[in-house]
Amino acid sequence: MNDEQFRRLAAYGQAEHAVPGRDLFTTGDRSYDLFLLETAAVEIVRDQRVIFRAGPGDFLGELGLLTGQHVYLTGRVISAGTVIRLGAANLRRALAEHADLADLLIEAFRQRREVIRTTAGTALRLVGRPDTALALRTYLAQLLLPHAWQETYPGLTPDDLPAAVIDRTVLRRATPGAVAEALGLTYRPDDREVDLVVVGAGPAGLAAAVYAASEGLSTVLLDRGGIGGQAAKTARIENHLGFSHGISGDELTRLAMLRALKFNVRIHSPCTATALDLTDPHRPTVQLDGGARIRCRAVIAATGANYRRLDIPGWAAFERAGCIRYAATEPDVRDYANQPVTVLGGANSAGQAALSLAAHNATVDLIVRGTRVGARMSTYLVDRIRAHPLIRLHLGSTVDALIGGDTLSGVVMSRAETLDSRALFCFIGATPETSWLTGVATDDNGFLRTPGPLPFQTSTPRVFAVGDLRAGSTKRVATAVGDGAGAVSSVHTALAARLPTPAT
Ligand SMILES: Cc1cc2nc3c(=O)[nH]c(=O)nc-3n(C[C@H](O)[C@H](O)[C@H](O)COP(=O)(O)OP(=O)(O)OC[C@H]3O[C@@H](n4cnc5c(N)ncnc54)[C@H](O)[C@@H]3O)c2cc1C
Repeated sequence: MNDEQFRRLAAYGQAEHAVPGRDLFTTGDRSYDLFLLETAAVEIVRDQRVIFRAGPGDFLGELGLLTGQHVYLTGRVISAGTVIRLGAANLRRALAEHADLADLLIEAFRQRREVIRTTAGTALRLVGRPDTALALRTYLAQLLLPHAWQETYPGLTPDDLPAAVIDRTVLRRATPGAVAEALGLTYRPDDREVDLVVVGAGPAGLAAAVYAASEGLSTVLLDRGGIGGQAAKTARIENHLGFSHGISGDELTRLAMLRALKFNVRIHSPCTATALDLTDPHRPTVQLDGGARIRCRAVIAATGANYRRLDIPGWAAFERAGCIRYAATEPDVRDYANQPVTVLGGANSAGQAALSLAAHNATVDLIVRGTRVGARMSTYLVDRIRAHPLIRLHLGSTVDALIGGDTLSGVVMSRAETLDSRALFCFIGATPETSWLTGVATDDNGFLRTPGPLPFQTSTPRVFAVGDLRAGSTKRVATAVGDGAGAVSSVHTALAARLPTPAT
């Protein structure tokens, strides 16, 4: 940050004299402020170890300033002088009013979060084995939560694992929900007005939230899992514009989340919408598990669709054992590197999974029910699959049975052929996630209809549907993002006094 930028940012804060030995913030604090060091010097400490020294002209802060997460490090004054303190509201105002400062600070926050993540902050300790806690591991990665794993902790038995230790509070059999609650990341009602609630933080919901907040709507974004939806479970998205070598779903999600934070979207996850109260058509109210209600002026539904499963014995047990997967993220693929696996499905997701697994030296049997693989899969994937020495393609087949004990050892295909297989990666489609949307019209397959008259408007004037959830949508990341952006324009129109009546 140059001198002029430092001065501009300092104008949003208050000067304080800081004496040596004073902690500006401490590991485990529930929140903290941004500090600009005018003349003071500070050391950043973790586990009594100095990891960074900052002096006049530097600023102290990282991503938690925007997400409201706990503090991971301690900032201790080592040389007396003046510091400028910016509270959360003033920091938000500065980011909104100065694009150059926003870009600079958010990039610095992101880089610092990476450093904290890789050196592992101690505010959140996980006890157990990461490979047996996939849900927790995925959630922590998606929300960029710094944490450290350790195998044991005094007083805990194997039955208590995975456990989380937060500020000396021990959560036994920790779930993403319990960790979020303890870290203050779940939704808590306050007196702030909410213009728009976006339910579902996949690409459609993230895009809607970013566009809405950047256009001045006070926006809350909720998701029952982590952030990123199906896209975050995708090892590599090769057909999205703007990335010369494609982009992983994780990275795309990270970038989208930073945009959302920049524009002051309030993100809460895990947080499940259970119902929609439409008693007052001008004020839809989203009801959450746990009983909280969010009254707003418009709702964008972006809850996507759920994976289909086969109705065959042992499916649920093998799924619980982690031998059946519905995504091919980096951790999923790494778990089955160098092993025989089966991939089921004939669309792009199955093709990408087969290629990612084969790239990690897994031998892959790809089972496609149809007799033509190119019917639902992009040609570039089909070509690579056909040419790959580790992938065997079985057309006109399906999975009839699963074999194994605690874990999967084989898959029986149609015509009783048995494949040696340690995991089944299943990509056979999905059903729309609409259980919370009582009273909103759907098509015969359960996808939300958008009869308008505004684009993306459902049968309920102030409720809009975007992404995979919308009837007739193209199930792609870019189209989901386009839906999210487009729906915000309709929200503005709907909020501007007159309520267009939906067509029947
Ligand atoms: C393995 C795989 C690979 C893919 N590869 C590609 C690709 O390469 N290129 C491409 O363009 N597309 C790809 N796709 C498709 C693409 O990911 C989807 O079309 C896209 O993610 C849809 O976005 P969405 O936001 O509509 O829904 P989703 O991504 O499904 O997100 C919905 C979100 O809503 C949340 N949710 C659901 N119910 C609730 C509730 N009641 N309360 C709160 N939150 C809720 C879910 O947790 C989820 O995060 C792939 C999909 C998969 C599974």
